[in-house]
Amino acid sequence: MKRICPKGHKYNKTSDYPVCPICAKEDRVRQGFLAELSNPAQRALLAEGIDRLDILAEWKQQDILELHGVGPKAIKGLQQQLEAADLSFKSA
Ligand SMILES: [Zn+2]
Repeated sequence: MKRICPKGHKYNKTSDYPVCPICAKEDRVRQGFLAELSNPAQRALLAEGIDRLDILAEWKQQDILELHGVGPKAIKGLQQQLEAADLSFKSA
């Protein structure tokens, strides 16, 4: 079923997406990308002053991976969140 959300996004209403997926994604980005990370990974990024996705996008993936507390799982999550915000890690 085609739906249009209050912000004008068109989407297919399915059981997976009872709300507008575009708004849901924007909300997740706004709420802060750190929320989805483990505590050690959160601390590692905050210790480097990385508290926004656009700051994260200034970093190379390899350098983030080398931070203590950040593992491949966290990197994968970060990458997805960067992509959701039309950003990416700096290329090596
Ligand atoms: Zn929407």
